[in-house]
Amino acid sequence: MNNSNLLAIAKEFGSPIYVYDSEKITSQYQRLTSAFKKVKHVKLNYAVKALSNLAILKLMNSLGAGLDTVSIQEVQLGLLAGVSPSNIIFTPNGVSLEEIEEVSAMGVQINIDNLSILEQFGTKHPNVPVCIRINPHVMAGGNSNISVGHIDSKFGISIHQIPHILRIVENTGMNINGIHMHTGSDILDIDVFLYASEILFDTAKHFKNLDFIDFGSGFKVPYKEGDIETNIEEFGEKLTKRFNSFCKEYGKELILGFEPGKFLVSEAGYFLAQVNVVKQTTSTVFAGIDSGFNHLIRPMLYNSYHDIINISNPNGRERFYSIVGYICETDTFATNRRISEITEGDIVAFKNAGAYCYSMSSNYNSRYRPAEILWHNNEAHLIRKHETFDDLTKNQVDVDLFAPLEAATK
Ligand SMILES: *Cc1c(COP(=O)(O)O)cnc(C)c1O
Repeated sequence: MNNSNLLAIAKEFGSPIYVYDSEKITSQYQRLTSAFKKVKHVKLNYAVKALSNLAILKLMNSLGAGLDTVSIQEVQLGLLAGVSPSNIIFTPNGVSLEEIEEVSAMGVQINIDNLSILEQFGTKHPNVPVCIRINPHVMAGGNSNISVGHIDSKFGISIHQIPHILRIVENTGMNINGIHMHTGSDILDIDVFLYASEILFDTAKHFKNLDFIDFGSGFKVPYKEGDIETNIEEFGEKLTKRFNSFCKEYGKELILGFEPGKFLVSEAGYFLAQVNVVKQTTSTVFAGIDSGFNHLIRPMLYNSYHDIINISNPNGRERFYSIVGYICETDTFATNRRISEITEGDIVAFKNAGAYCYSMSSNYNSRYRPAEILWHNNEAHLIRKHETFDDLTKNQVDVDLFAPLEAATK
C-alpha cells in the first residue's frame, strides 16, 4: 500500500474515503501472537468497536481471532460475519440484565463488571459460566477519557470488593470461568501492565474453575516518526514467563487472552480527503478539506495526533499548514503542521485512521458518512458504499402537521 495506490483509490472512488490495508492487520496479528508463542493457549479477541465493518470481522475470523464486543449489535455483526458465538466475548458496561441474558442465550461468553448484575445473573442462571471484569486500580492510558483503571472509574469490579464477589458466587452457586481486566488505551510502560497483571493473578487464585485470564488491551501504537510504542516483544517475553509460572501454581494450563483494537487496525487505516480551499490569513495558512470531525473526531475529542501527508505532492517544498474541516464550529485536525506544499484539489492522507475513526463517525451537519475500501492482494475492494440523501431521511417520519406560512394565510 503506497501513495500512488491511495491516490488511485481517491480518483476511482471519490473522497472523503477510508482505506484499510489487510496485510498490515495480518502482520500486527501475527506480531502479537508470536510474542506469546511460548504460551500453550493464547486467544486474541479483536475489539469490534475499533472498526466494525463485516469485511474486517471476516478477516479477523480468518486469522483465528475471536471478537470482543460491547453491545448486542456488535455481537450480531460478528455472527453475521460468520464468527462462532463460542469465539465471542461480551464485555459491556452499564447495559441492562435483559441485553446480557439475550447475548448469553446466543452462546456468547459473558463478562460482568458490576456486583448488582453479577448477583442477578447468577441467581437466574447459575449454570452459565461467567467471566468477571476486575478493576485493579492501576492508572494507565494516554488521555483521561480512555484511561479506565483509576479508583473512581465506572469500569470493572474493584479489587477491594473481592469478598463481595466471593459471597455472591457462593450464594448463587455460579461458576466463574474467567478473570478479566482492561485498564485503558495507550499504555506505554509495560511495567505498569505487568504490575496490574500481578493483581489479576492474585485475584485468580480465589477462583478454582478458571479457563482463561484476559489481560484486556491498551497497547500503544506509533502515531508519528520517532513515537514510542508498546514493546510487544519484550512484554510478551516477560508476561509469558509470569503466566506460565502462574499456571503451574494454579495447576492448569489456562488460556491467555487479549482484546486488542487499536493495535490490530490503527496503522492499517488511511483517511483520504481533498483540499477544497487554501486560505492564507495574516498568521496562518489553512487547508480546508472536504470532511470534518463528523468523519474523524479523534483530534477534537481526544486531542489525538494523526500524521497528514499530501499524497498529490509528496516531495514538494514543506510549508506550515493548519488542516481544518468544513463543520460550522471549531473543527481542527492539525495546527501548524509541516506538510508538502498544498494546492487546491490535492488529496491529503491521514495515517492511523483504522481504529476509532469510521466507527465514531456521524451525520453531523447532515453530511454523508464516507465509503470504506479494503486493500487486499494489491486490489481495492469497496466494503461500504458512501451514504446518499436517502440515508439522511429514511428513518424520519413526516408528520405533516405544518403548512408553509404562505399557503396557510392564503
Ligand atoms: C475498547 C476496549 C478494548 C480495545 O482497546 P484498544 O486500546 O483499542 O486496544 C479492549 N477491551 C475492552 C473491554 C474495551 O472496552
